[in-house]
Amino acid sequence: MKVIPYGTQEIDQKDIDAVVEVLHSSWLTQGPAIERFEAALAESTHSSRAVAVSNATAALHITCLAMGLGPGDLLWTSPNTFVASANCALYCGASVDFVDIDPRTYNMSVEALEKKLKDAATTGRLPKIVIPVHFSGQPCDMAAIHRLSQEYGFRIIEDAAHALGARYREQPVGCCEYSDATILSFHPVKIITTGEGGAVLTRDAELADRIRILRSHGITRDPSRMKWTSEGDWYYHQIELGFNYRMTDLQAALGASQLTRLEDFLHRRRERVERYQEMLKGTGVVLPFQADYGESAWHLYVIQVSCAEERKHVFDRMREAGILVNVHYIPVHLQPYYRDLGFSPGDFPEAESYYSRAISLPMFPGLTIEDQSRVVEKLRSAVLART
Ligand SMILES: *Cc1c(COP(=O)(O)O)cnc(C)c1O
Repeated sequence: MKVIPYGTQEIDQKDIDAVVEVLHSSWLTQGPAIERFEAALAESTHSSRAVAVSNATAALHITCLAMGLGPGDLLWTSPNTFVASANCALYCGASVDFVDIDPRTYNMSVEALEKKLKDAATTGRLPKIVIPVHFSGQPCDMAAIHRLSQEYGFRIIEDAAHALGARYREQPVGCCEYSDATILSFHPVKIITTGEGGAVLTRDAELADRIRILRSHGITRDPSRMKWTSEGDWYYHQIELGFNYRMTDLQAALGASQLTRLEDFLHRRRERVERYQEMLKGTGVVLPFQADYGESAWHLYVIQVSCAEERKHVFDRMREAGILVNVHYIPVHLQPYYRDLGFSPGDFPEAESYYSRAISLPMFPGLTIEDQSRVVEKLRSAVLART
């Protein structure tokens, strides 16, 4: 039985050659390939600066730190995300809260955000940072969130782990027109891969500098940033408590090579989406809604069935048939770690209701027509067998 994953990377000979070339060079860790990858990322996303790091979780962590998030501060994000989007606040000693999702886009609801901000303004518990997550690759309504940030004085980090190549109002996600920074992930299931990897995109030169320093132990070799005069070329100053969150040149070379095929990856994802939309007609499942202000990168293709029992039934039947469907996401506030922080079932009902019915079907550029037919046939029979 051929197993169909829900997502997977696509590595070609050019990718392999790019990595091998670095292996033959004198630099393995952060070096010239990082600079090239960062420049290519900045160009592709129309952001002025890109900082490559070891993974998106590290990117979230040091972006929050660089924005001064700390004990006593609040960070808000969507409950429909990977735990990393919320954990970054806890790493900084800050607190997390969530804003429920829009039941159509599965992204943070702008109405819910506005209402929560109004309430928070009266109690003095406004967030310092809000992290909208472009779930499945579909951009959030950033202009609306940006307007609220102006009114209520919070900073915005876009979690675009799913959304490299997506467009919002004709501009690439990552250009940071409506945010302070955007983070990307290059985990193998994401749009392009470096094995493990992430990046921060920003227009803010000072923020980028601070993130670069935090990426490498809080150390600077730039005499102009030192606390006192450099004693010589060997000299460096640790001016903050940073980390080793560097990406290797091997990974950056792979990333730069992958990035040259971004348009091709996106095009093939869209083709597969169109096929699903056509093939799934008449099955009664809820298909993904597409907001008219943008274009998704289609990291995930998520359908909803009618209830939790049906979801379990369909999920199990498909897994038995070697179709590795998945569920994105168990709402973060329902994780045991977050329950211990005081969250409970019922706190974010739209995210919980969505979660109980959601299934991510296989979606990646190399998914064949035959495999897609197999997915849809199995889904059809599993759905019918329930009803
Ligand atoms: C994958 C993912 C992350 C974390 O990415 P890593 O590179 O694995 O650290 C963060 N947020 C979202 C929404 C993700 O999907």
